Amino acid sequence: MQTQIRFDPLRLPPETAKLRDEVRAFLADEIAQGTFDPKLGQKNPGYDRDFSRRVGERGWIGMTWPKEYGGQERSYLDRYVVTEEMRVACAPTWSHFVADRQSGPVILKYGTEALKAEILPKIVRGERCFAIGMSEPNSGSDLFAAATRAEAEGDQYRVNGTKIWTSNAHRAEYMIALLRTSPPTNDNRRHGLTQFLVDMRLPGITVRPIDQMPGSTDFNEVHFEDVMVPADHVLGEVDGAWKQATAELAYERSGPERFLETYTVLAELLRTLGKDPDLRAAEGVGRLVAQLHTLRRMSVSVAGMLEAGREPVLEASIVKDLGTVWEQALPAIARDLAAFAKPNPETQVAFEELIDHATLVAPKLTIQGGTTEVLRGIIARGLGLR
Ligand SMILES: Cc1cc2nc3c(=O)[nH]c(=O)nc-3n(C[C@H](O)[C@H](O)[C@H](O)COP(=O)(O)OP(=O)(O)OC[C@H]3O[C@@H](n4cnc5c(N)ncnc54)[C@H](O)[C@@H]3O)c2cc1C
Repeated sequence: MQTQIRFDPLRLPPETAKLRDEVRAFLADEIAQGTFDPKLGQKNPGYDRDFSRRVGERGWIGMTWPKEYGGQERSYLDRYVVTEEMRVACAPTWSHFVADRQSGPVILKYGTEALKAEILPKIVRGERCFAIGMSEPNSGSDLFAAATRAEAEGDQYRVNGTKIWTSNAHRAEYMIALLRTSPPTNDNRRHGLTQFLVDMRLPGITVRPIDQMPGSTDFNEVHFEDVMVPADHVLGEVDGAWKQATAELAYERSGPERFLETYTVLAELLRTLGKDPDLRAAEGVGRLVAQLHTLRRMSVSVAGMLEAGREPVLEASIVKDLGTVWEQALPAIARDLAAFAKPNPETQVAFEELIDHATLVAPKLTIQGGTTEVLRGIIARGLGLR
């Protein structure tokens, strides 16, 4: 079936400029206090509970959510500005970001009133960290093959199985897990999966760290052995999670975090090249900035569609695909362009270390949140090509 791909040429409204100034002033203060160093890029520790609490105090977590749950009822475009500034600065948002971006909205849409009242205000205050429990050892791209079972027993579900690559599971209070409650049917292989809110402190959950190439251990294998999850922690329709997951992926794939992960490399490249760069370097930087600008326009456009209540899954896939390919290529291009600059012993070592680190980070970018191949399959289907 062909879907129309549409990027409305939206611009951030002038009112967002004031918010941007406020976020920049807040971040400048945090940098001055030594919370993080923007020049270190991804080498900064991304996780800082106290920082998240301070962001929460400003009203910048769950800012689009209803006031009754602690939100600010602000627009997705305001949220865009906050996310963008935090990412450009490499602020340590890991503790609250997943909950703000997608777990909170899922609870808001599908949770019981009691869950919403209990959990959303805590997320808003920066006090709750969430993990995403989708991938499994034999089910990554093909989410609908998930096999971790949740079997109904009275007013609870008994959960057994394994999730993998679960970012922040070792820190999170909660996981939103995609679990198998029934087998798929002959006419719908997506049938039979249900989303659950799982308290990570429940007995029977074991979290084992997985080492990553840059030296960090941000993701894990999570094993469930006879974990009893209350039935009122079901989010949405039993067996019908496939209808819900698509909307969540639009939140997950389209934000500025999908092309700003190695951004510091570009900022430091500009510093290295100086105000009067070699013409060849200037041309290369021009290309990078033009591409970045286009990605930004597309991502803002998706934020506008979310604001309008649409589910721009296709457009979000395009932003994620183009964005991650761009940020993945950036370190190698920056290394080449920096060769046109006069060597500066004072900055050269730090810049090379930054590029080295970004090079180690880069391979994961086109895998996390959906691989490039899979996204292109979704886009091709949307275009009616398959
Ligand atoms: C840094 C990082 C953090 C992550 N965090 C989380 C997390 O918090 N929670 C979570 O649930 N998951 C997380 N993931 C997992 C991620 O979503 C999966 O790795 C990803 O969806 C791919 O699944 P897979 O690893 O099983 O690879 P596979 O699905 O086995 O894919 C292997 C290769 O085959 C290709 N392929 C697969 N299917 C197709 C197809 N239909 N057409 C064409 N090519 C195909 C893929 O593109 C890939 O190149 C994370 C991954 C990374 C790298």
